[in-house]
Amino acid sequence: MNNEVDLPHLKIVLLGNSGVGKTSLMNRWTAGKFSTSAKSTVGANHQRKKVFVGRDEVEIFLWDTAGQEQFQALTPLYVRNAATALILAAVDDANSFDTLQTWVDLINSACEHVPPMILVVNKIDIVDHTSYSNEEIESRFGPMFSSIFFASAATGEGVDTCFMQAAHSAFNFSKSFT
Ligand code: GDP
Ligand code: MG
Repeated sequence: MNNEVDLPHLKIVLLGNSGVGKTSLMNRWTAGKFSTSAKSTVGANHQRKKVFVGRDEVEIFLWDTAGQEQFQALTPLYVRNAATALILAAVDDANSFDTLQTWVDLINSACEHVPPMILVVNKIDIVDHTSYSNEEIESRFGPMFSSIFFASAATGEGVDTCFMQAAHSAFNFSKSFT
């Protein structure tokens, strides 16, 4: 009965400009640590983690980009069949907010069934920054996303909350096709 192959597999993709903290956030949630010297990886970079969504155990497959975001070279294959997308911006990088629409468009054009998209505003440990205020973020970008979370891969604040919300929406999304 507890055979692993029976666990629902849910694909969650991480998107956002290079440097917003996708790899750091994923590592914080799956490995519980943060390293400022983490190198940008070449090639596929995936992590998995089992969690409970209510009473149901599911296996989350996280897809992290391997630097392709710099070259706008992400293939539709990357986002295809995603059950939820976490799209990141960083509080100290206004441009990472201004390009959010690009990532939303990529998902809309590549996915037959468009998954829930969650905005994760990362690096909230950086208090002295010049990009958008939280109120501006909510009003300008809220309508593009199913929800918004504020997090810091560096301190861990908000990280579990945002991934668990992603797991819930991925589970509900996948159930809507079965
Ligand atoms: P990616 O390109 O989106 O995968 O971003 P990385 O995870 O490689 O992070 C880019 C840089 O931002 C690295 O120097 C990280 O140490 C740093 N970083 C990531 N998350 C945070 C955070 O929450 N707070 C702070 N202060 N720095 C962070
Ligand atoms: Mg990375």
